Amino acid sequence: MVKQLVFATNNKHKLQELREIVGGEFEILSLADIGCAEEIVEDGNTFKDNALIKARYIKDHYGYDCFADDSGLEIDALDGAPGVYSARFAGNECDSRRNIEKVLILMGDCMNRKARFVTVFALILNNKIHFFEGEVQGTILKECRGDDGFGYDPIFLPDGSTLTFAEMSHEAKNSISHRGKATAKLVEFLKSML
Ligand code: IMP
Repeated sequence: MVKQLVFATNNKHKLQELREIVGGEFEILSLADIGCAEEIVEDGNTFKDNALIKARYIKDHYGYDCFADDSGLEIDALDGAPGVYSARFAGNECDSRRNIEKVLILMGDCMNRKARFVTVFALILNNKIHFFEGEVQGTILKECRGDDGFGYDPIFLPDGSTLTFAEMSHEAKNSISHRGKATAKLVEFLKSML
């Protein structure tokens, strides 16, 4: 029997990607599919906390086994900021240009430009909690490079690459990205449960 699993996201792209990778063995339901329109408040201090808050909300309110993700950028010279505030660092949800501007102003000419993107998935399956993490180390540039991608992609140069995330193809980014790595771990685990 096909097992139903909710992916607690409103991001159609993430949902589509997961459905393609997992195949037909799990039926991946969206929040819309289960009639969940309310905003789940992500007020945790870590990516793990936030991912678990979302997964737990669905389990507690809708009864479904569920997984949720949370991601962001951690910059060493900013003591790990923007971290869990990555989406709203400059105050305005999803305004990437202003978020990048704020990072570049705060960093100025700082020599230590080490940073990493992190993704955490929290999965609640058969009343057990599992976490899957992925990260990619890199450097924050002093100006934007590339038009593709989203968020902080134009200022993030992954270690070992001459291209920023915003200059790479989606396939190239997915093969080394925090999200790609965390997703691969989640999918491997789900397939092992079949
Ligand atoms: P989410 O949890 O995947 O929605 O990510 C939260 C925020 O982190 C996004 O709104 C972006 O600002 C930032 N972020 C996460 N992943 C990436 C990425 O791959 N590239 C650029 N920014 C990212």
